[in-house]
Amino acid sequence: MTQALPSVLVVEDEPAQREVLAYNLSVQGFRVREADNGEEALLMVAEEAPDLIVLDWMLPNVSGIEVCRRLKARAETRGLPIIMLSARSEEVDLVRGLETGADDYMVKPYSVAELVARVRSQLRRTRPGSQGEVLEFADISLDSTTHRVTRAGQPVKLGPTEFRLLATFMEKPGRVFSRELLLDRVWGRDIYVDTRTVDVHVGRLRKALCAHGGDDPLRTVRGAGYALG
Ligand code: CA
Repeated sequence: MTQALPSVLVVEDEPAQREVLAYNLSVQGFRVREADNGEEALLMVAEEAPDLIVLDWMLPNVSGIEVCRRLKARAETRGLPIIMLSARSEEVDLVRGLETGADDYMVKPYSVAELVARVRSQLRRTRPGSQGEVLEFADISLDSTTHRVTRAGQPVKLGPTEFRLLATFMEKPGRVFSRELLLDRVWGRDIYVDTRTVDVHVGRLRKALCAHGGDDPLRTVRGAGYALG
């Protein structure tokens, strides 16, 4: 079993372009959702925030710039990386000038390989564990490619759920994750799981991490959730 795939929302009204993007991103190991207008994109983000958005500038109803502006204005979605697509380079200058807060820009016609590289680069910043890297926290090391976890050099045996939990914590040490957010990240929205299940698996993760001694690195934050460190 693999770690939850990083999800990308592709917002593009040209069906052919949208399909090419969605196809190439899914082949590259991303979970892809698609929207063909700005309104739908905003609804989809509210329903389940993706890890990244590829957003076309020219869209019917709500423009890409407006979508970007709205997402960057809200605290819950501000950190969501957005790569804007535009038809002309003057538009990119305009996007920059408007300070929409987009994280990157590409001008059409763009190379799909280059776009995928930029998607990876954004995710390396926001979800390092999803891009096949080794995450380190104190004496804990997690290799998201080989799925190997060690603590103080000793192997730590984890089930797939505990592995994904730890990866989620290690992507953002110190961040407090609510049980709902952990359910979303580790189990996914489509599966119904009770929030108490989270407590059970965090308990197993703690036990596994402390099997060879050492302090409990996971913190229970009363009324809020869990954090690493
Ligand atoms: Ca368009």
